[in-house]
Amino acid sequence: MSIPFIDLKTQYRRVADEVQQGIRAVLESGAYIGGPEVARLEERLAGYCGTRYAVGTASGTDALVMALMALSVGPGDAVFCPPFTFMATAEVVALLGATPVFVDVDPVTYNMDPAQLELAVRAVRAGDASLYPLPKNAGQLTPKAVIPVDLFGLLADYQALLSVAAKHGLFVIEDAAQAFGATLTLSGTQRRACSFGSIACTSFFPAKPLGCYGDGGMCFTDDPELLELLRSIRVHGQGRDKYENVRLGITGRLDTMQAAVLLAKFEIFPDEVRLRQEAAKRYAGLLGQIPGLTLPAVPDGSTSVFAQYSIQAETSAQRQELLERLGKASVPTSIYYPRPLHLQPAFANLGYRSGSMPVSEAVAARIFSIPMHPYLTAQTQEEIYRAMAG
Ligand SMILES: *Cc1c(COP(=O)(O)O)cnc(C)c1O
Repeated sequence: MSIPFIDLKTQYRRVADEVQQGIRAVLESGAYIGGPEVARLEERLAGYCGTRYAVGTASGTDALVMALMALSVGPGDAVFCPPFTFMATAEVVALLGATPVFVDVDPVTYNMDPAQLELAVRAVRAGDASLYPLPKNAGQLTPKAVIPVDLFGLLADYQALLSVAAKHGLFVIEDAAQAFGATLTLSGTQRRACSFGSIACTSFFPAKPLGCYGDGGMCFTDDPELLELLRSIRVHGQGRDKYENVRLGITGRLDTMQAAVLLAKFEIFPDEVRLRQEAAKRYAGLLGQIPGLTLPAVPDGSTSVFAQYSIQAETSAQRQELLERLGKASVPTSIYYPRPLHLQPAFANLGYRSGSMPVSEAVAARIFSIPMHPYLTAQTQEEIYRAMAG
């Protein structure tokens, strides 16, 4: 039997009855849009993450778009993003006419480096690209917001990031698309992903730690005014009723059926997080024996949900060799991310060059991911280890 990269079939067998019951109830109710399942899920997940409110959205990307719209981000604004992330993080900034300003990542956690955020904000303020590599015309921009990403399931360094953001009056939007369920101890209190910043966003794309059976996402906030804005933007800027539009918005709703799927899957989610962490521990024991590999770091006070199990090889050549060995043994692999966003053709207009973000570029040349999901067995992991050890 072939090894899956993410085993959604085994997971489905575990929740099939509950999922089918949930979907049948929606089918029979006729409330396909805005059914009671959506509010129930919002309440449950806000409670789990420790925020006052949650707003279900059509995708993680829509959650980010809505967050930026609610904070009035637009042309002339600089929004600081890491370049080592999925396209959506910076795409939404540019879609709204604002300018992504890239901030390189930490070489150990792969998350935004707070010291470099400080430099980048100062460089924009001074309009001086000799202080930090900037996009074209950055001198005319107003620093407005920062979008830290919790990459591969590990929370960014919010202790430091929140303090840099506060010092410079930046809004923080947490991109927790990969980290739902992860934790971080901040000032002695353990907090969950989706509880950082003015608005946090997550995704329920099937391959994410908590996935549905289609597209879905959610915004989280503690601020009642932002809650009202997000709800309005979600339905074309609706005012007191459907036919009053007080601002521009989108069709950003989470489907009732996906909410029903998520309610069923959330029941086993804490157990799945535990299983992911056990699988990661087994990988560390095995792969630590292979010279040259840098395994995922989990700093003290953090827990990861291992959305991906990403390994850094010593060189691109070692990565190539390992990927070939794994391929020969029919072990699926993937590279997240082979090209950082500042070097993507879609952002060529920003004028970044190779060498602008040296850490992201070095990591992109050496990183690769191997199978990771809650149902990975010790036996399969040993097979993967043997294929890599050669
Ligand atoms: C998946 C992902 C998104 C977008 O989520 P979708 O639900 O696919 O729109 C945004 N940011 C990051 C970091 C992601 O991994």
